[in-house]
Amino acid sequence: MHADYTFINGEVITVRPDDHVFQAAAVRGNEICAVGTTEEVLGLSGPKTQVVDLRGNSLLPGFIDSHLHMLLYGTNQLGVDCKNDVGNIEGIKARLAERARTTPAGEWVRGWGYNDQRLAEGRHPTRDDLDEVSEDHPIIAVRTCNHISVANSKALELLGITRDTPDPEGGQIARGEDGEPAGVLKETAHMLAFETSRYSPEEMMEALTIADHDFVRLGITSIHEAGGYGPDQMRAMYRAGAEGRVKVRIYAMVCSLNRSEGFVSKMVAAGLVTGVGDERFRIGPAKIFTDGSSSGPTCATREPYTSDPNDSGILYYSQEEIDGILGVAHREGFQITAHAIGDKAVEMVMNCIEKTLKEHPREDHRHRIEHAGMVPPDLMERMKRLGIVPIPNPAFFYEFGEGYVKNYGGRIEHMFPLADYAREGVVAASGSDAPVTVPDPLRGIYCALTRRTESGTPVAESQRTTLMHAIRSFTINGAYASFEEDRKGSIEVGKLADLVVLDGSILSASPERILSMKPTLTMINGEIVYGGEDEGGPEGRSRLSAATSPAR
Ligand SMILES: [Zn+2]
Repeated sequence: MHADYTFINGEVITVRPDDHVFQAAAVRGNEICAVGTTEEVLGLSGPKTQVVDLRGNSLLPGFIDSHLHMLLYGTNQLGVDCKNDVGNIEGIKARLAERARTTPAGEWVRGWGYNDQRLAEGRHPTRDDLDEVSEDHPIIAVRTCNHISVANSKALELLGITRDTPDPEGGQIARGEDGEPAGVLKETAHMLAFETSRYSPEEMMEALTIADHDFVRLGITSIHEAGGYGPDQMRAMYRAGAEGRVKVRIYAMVCSLNRSEGFVSKMVAAGLVTGVGDERFRIGPAKIFTDGSSSGPTCATREPYTSDPNDSGILYYSQEEIDGILGVAHREGFQITAHAIGDKAVEMVMNCIEKTLKEHPREDHRHRIEHAGMVPPDLMERMKRLGIVPIPNPAFFYEFGEGYVKNYGGRIEHMFPLADYAREGVVAASGSDAPVTVPDPLRGIYCALTRRTESGTPVAESQRTTLMHAIRSFTINGAYASFEEDRKGSIEVGKLADLVVLDGSILSASPERILSMKPTLTMINGEIVYGGEDEGGPEGRSRLSAATSPAR
């Protein structure tokens, strides 16, 4: 049997336990059928084999982003960009006004990505700011963390928020001196606004198609969808894959947004549990949010923020509530996870996992903690002992690093501690949390190597890690976090042909060069989903170029 594709003359980074690097690999059907020297692999060529000459460049297992929000990333592309090059609040207003002009009165105008700390005014926009944009449209602008948003009067009216509305549990409605809602909504109050302003099914399919298009260009072949949605959105993700509009494989977390403790039992009643599905779409862990965001800052810390002695963040639940919701999920066979960033929240999730495993032991549970932002030594010891899989976000330093230093002081020494994970043998699977940061695994790898911010400031460099540890966290460790390391995450015979070719040799590149590297070809399930222009070749044999960026 001949190979369908051969990749030759390259740097094949297998990510096997021994880190072996080969020259060549071959694909037949949807699986890798050989790894070896160029000579050996060319021996598998037949008349129909497509040859990809790597010209010394890297071939890696397709990247796995273990925590992002695909649908949200896509719907953001349909909304108004309040993140890139806006400058100040007037800039945001101008962009929203432009959209309002082409939007029928009464329909939502949605903005995304603003960061008060990067705006010239150094504050959030307000209800009054957005009312100046339009009083005829409900307007919502979501902060870059996706835990805070601002609404105008029309939107607050649709949300039913008045001066008499109390703060929801786990959330906050900012108020002016007159007691009226000032527009800013935090945590569960934001989640309500987000849910109310959701997109139509057609828009969701369009959004997922856009997201998939971007992801495969960044070399991503699998994602762990971190959710934060309801049943319509889950169905849209499944359908987009089934219809071939989405190529990346999805491991979808089942997430409770609005404290609806019943979500697990509803799943169980339908016979659904972690692992149900196929290699394209699979049910992931049951997930809850336990605290706010690292950049807000709204995450729940043991000690008050360095920047504000009266603030230690927002907790969504009491310990008993966390134990209750996740305990049921564990007993019903789910992998469990929780969004937890501050050390207080991380500790509470660990308390829950420890208690539930003691009462109902399970081998190989692979319970996760999303982000696990702050892991000081005592929590690291528990994480290792309990076999918890942390899902860090190395690229957060790139955008938010300066804010971390200001808000958390010395605690940055144990934030997203990749070097500690490597030293302790804790399997950590990285994610971008897109759209919070761009879903570029190479940027994540760069940050894991350097701990540098966008302006070059190093943040706790003692936690820098090695290139192979960084690559693992975006490949095989992601496969482990979804119980699929036997099928993907490395380049080995019999594994799924999910591959990415880079425009250089990552093993000999400087971190700065890695930051600017680009995939030139992405393959999922044996199918080229990006790049790979046909150059024609000798003897009429098809020869695919992967050495240079194909034209778009
Ligand atoms: Zn997230």
